[in-house]
Amino acid sequence: MAVVRRGAPPDVTYDVTVIGAGVVGTAVARELARHPGLRIALVEAADDVGEGTSKANTAILHTGFDAVPGSLESRLVREGQARLAVYAAESGIPVEPVGALLVAWDDEQLAALPQLLAKAERNGYHAARLLGPAEVRAREPHLGPGALGALDVPGESIICPWTTTLAYATQAVRAGVDLLLNCRVGRVSSSGEAHLLTTGRGTLRTRYLVNAAGLHADTVDRLLGHDAFTVTPRRGQLIVYDKLARDLVRHILLPVPTALGKGVLVAPTVHGNVLLGPTAEEVDDKSATGTTAEGIAALREKGHRILPELLDEEVTAVYAGLRAATDQDDYRISAHKEQRYVTVGGIRSTGLTASMAIAAHVTELLAGTGLDLSAPRDVEPVRMPNLGEAFPRPYRRADLIAADPAYGEIVCHCERVTRGEIRDALAATIPPGSPEGLRRRTRARNGRCQGFYCGAQVRELYERGAEMGTG
Ligand SMILES: Cc1cc2nc3c(=O)[nH]c(=O)nc-3n(C[C@H](O)[C@H](O)[C@H](O)COP(=O)(O)OP(=O)(O)OC[C@H]3O[C@@H](n4cnc5c(N)ncnc54)[C@H](O)[C@@H]3O)c2cc1C
Repeated sequence: MAVVRRGAPPDVTYDVTVIGAGVVGTAVARELARHPGLRIALVEAADDVGEGTSKANTAILHTGFDAVPGSLESRLVREGQARLAVYAAESGIPVEPVGALLVAWDDEQLAALPQLLAKAERNGYHAARLLGPAEVRAREPHLGPGALGALDVPGESIICPWTTTLAYATQAVRAGVDLLLNCRVGRVSSSGEAHLLTTGRGTLRTRYLVNAAGLHADTVDRLLGHDAFTVTPRRGQLIVYDKLARDLVRHILLPVPTALGKGVLVAPTVHGNVLLGPTAEEVDDKSATGTTAEGIAALREKGHRILPELLDEEVTAVYAGLRAATDQDDYRISAHKEQRYVTVGGIRSTGLTASMAIAAHVTELLAGTGLDLSAPRDVEPVRMPNLGEAFPRPYRRADLIAADPAYGEIVCHCERVTRGEIRDALAATIPPGSPEGLRRRTRARNGRCQGFYCGAQVRELYERGAEMGTG
């Protein structure tokens, strides 16, 4: 088991290499690791797993009720949701089955609800039903005036996206996958039986290759001579409201979708906050993850209609993520048998949900290109530290504190993160590569003061951990 942050790649020929350690690439690596005998590498340009789109989304475990019926995405979201719900329960990934209400605010939207219900049925989702305005208001008392009805989608849940990626990666590494961080693939050439990947740290050899490079999947595809799709980043800006707003909303409040996307929603988070967003803006820069005054103003205007009282609450943070959109309304997953290569592109707005099913699909495609797979085994389960408010956190657990007082020593008071949790994260199988990575593992500095009070202490703990070779 190895996590390598510096130095040349090992002088071996891997059976399979996965490019990109987002939620998709880590899920693929984990799935492949279930097949004994494979030598697997997971290579990532950034200094940590989950540093791309996977860290900045809306964190909903979708049912796929509104996918394009018959599409690959529809199937993989449905299967992925079922798989991830089971995996999350086993692994300690926080999930809250809050359900969603897709709210109609005018006659046109109201008329669209029965069509969305029929679409849900065509997507194999049979639990949705129409609600009248009185029931909508009873279910969501703080909703703005004028809601005419809703589609109730009880199967929609909220999930921790950070823990999901980390759980997959941790399990993959413990099962023998080599995780190479700070390792951008810049060129791919061939030497008979092997691909030669030129990385910033030297050359890596692999027989089979999976491209899970997210926003850069088109660039990597071109390195292998393909020109099938172009990724156009579609930015989604979001506002995170303080925990005091959490009681204002019970469900995920969805708008009626448009051609550009699912639209602006209000949703609780498993960390106890409320999200408003995302926008949907086509941008041409794959690093344009900043927020804009116009984007935030547009969200506030939409939010005012949905949940007016939300706008009186304090904002904890704003952020933006980039969807890997292409010119097709579906994922762009394809196998190239002669090259022993699978492209996993166009994983736009549902990749978190679909990740485990995408991984199973990619593994089948690899087998179809000739990869010799032994029968899968059960890999050792992981139990991730709980970041969810709906489940006991260490600071509330007298048993834990009695056994180890570090769990009673709060460092980040906004999020109630203890020294014990920070210590554990720094000594984990995949330690964070920065204080930001530590935040995604513990929630330290994630609260209303954004590290104003605890930032120096958290950084000191991080640096001490890094010095000891754990960080
Ligand atoms: C605003 C927004 C809201 C969303 N909401 C949801 C939601 O509620 N539910 C849901 O299921 N999905 C949602 N999504 C979609 C989901 O976040 C994505 O589908 C998913 O994160 C994509 O994961 P990925 O692994 O493909 O990409 P990424 O997470 O971007 O990972 C790709 C990785 O590849 C690495 N990489 C790129 N090029 C190279 C290279 N040459 N060499 C080495 N490494 C490389 C990158 O550094 C990156 O870490 C949302 C997305 C956005 C933007």
